[in-house]
Amino acid sequence: MAIQPIATSVPRHVAFLKTEGRVFSAISGDPDLDSPLRFSAAANLLQALWFHFPKDARRWVRNRIETSEPRNLMAQSFKKLIGKRISYDSFNPYPDAIQLDFDEKHGLEDSRIDTGKFPRATGDFPGLLLKEARGANRSEKRFENDREVSAALVSASGEILTAHRNGNRLIRSRHAEIQVCNDWWLKNKSPFPKGSRLWVSLQCCEMCAVAVASLAAGKPLRTEKDFPQGIDFQVLYLKKETCGSAANSVLRALGLERAYKT
Ligand SMILES: [Zn+2]
Repeated sequence: MAIQPIATSVPRHVAFLKTEGRVFSAISGDPDLDSPLRFSAAANLLQALWFHFPKDARRWVRNRIETSEPRNLMAQSFKKLIGKRISYDSFNPYPDAIQLDFDEKHGLEDSRIDTGKFPRATGDFPGLLLKEARGANRSEKRFENDREVSAALVSASGEILTAHRNGNRLIRSRHAEIQVCNDWWLKNKSPFPKGSRLWVSLQCCEMCAVAVASLAAGKPLRTEKDFPQGIDFQVLYLKKETCGSAANSVLRALGLERAYKT
């Protein structure tokens, strides 16, 4: 864990959480304000707490996060999945805060699917994707096993651009779709290509939906109204999510997802 002074030379937001006599903080990701995968300060703080303090995070994240950033879809969706409360536009500096780092590369190699076996989305590609989901890592350490989910970004011509399994055993927020978004963004620093499709073995949850829609839009989304018209992108899911988190997803609201019938 790195403990660093809060960076002030770049336009980053900051988030704080007070718990058990200490204050933890994290800053927002990519300093480019227009980056589509700019992890919000509150989202980074939640991810960092779960990553650095797996035993205590469940208790601590019940406390309110105060963040300098305005209300945004990403922070809201992370709050629903792995946190509880956020106060936006709240800047009350805590000079003794312990700043937690959270690197977007965390867990990326762990969840990567080797697509050498199926470089193109042809034939039994949906079946292969489901099979890869069943190969999710299992481990006694940290949280429970990874949930059996896989996701693959496929180009308009059928090339598999990147594919991942869930990595939530190591880091609560590392769902397969978030890993695909991270991997694509870190490698290319560009939106999802025109005409691409994200195939997922299970319908996207609310949190992943925001990251996916942002990368399809090519810009961060404060609200779903920010999504531009005429973007050629869709999510194809093989199984319906039944736990309810998909019902409120921005992908569903924007009509960007549909079930693929095998
Ligand atoms: Zn998810």
